[in-house]
Amino acid sequence: MTTDTNCLFCNIVAGTIPSTQVYSDELVIVFKDINPKAQIHLLVVPREHIISLNEIEQRHDVLIGHIIRLLPKIAKEQGLNDGFRTVINTGAGGGQVVFHLHVHLLGGKGLHGVGFVE
Ligand code: 5GP
Ligand code: ZN
Repeated sequence: MTTDTNCLFCNIVAGTIPSTQVYSDELVIVFKDINPKAQIHLLVVPREHIISLNEIEQRHDVLIGHIIRLLPKIAKEQGLNDGFRTVINTGAGGGQVVFHLHVHLLGGKGLHGVGFVE
């Protein structure tokens, strides 16, 4: 599995940089965003270092399916019973700041309007 010792999220996956983890399994970890944009703001992060959606290949199909099915389960565990928002920023032009693929899972108070504005 690819990792990059210079990558922030690889270091969080490895535990060398701390995070507030809410879930983990063999493929992903889920932890709280350090700068939450809503009452609940989690990041679903593959253990493998994949830069962005631009680098997704067919071999990632199991991982992607796993993440998509996991999202509603985590949302319900967090008490988001009437819905949640998911965001994937891709590339600098898409607002991506950390270049290790991640899905934002947002919900609860403070979630307004459409989109995701810094
Ligand atoms: P992006 O803009 O790349 O989609 O989102 C990166 C996210 O990572 C941002 O929401 C930012 O607050 C979060 N983030 C950046 N550094 C850290 C960190 O060290 N720990 C945690 N938990 N989140 C971080
Ligand atoms: Zn990484």
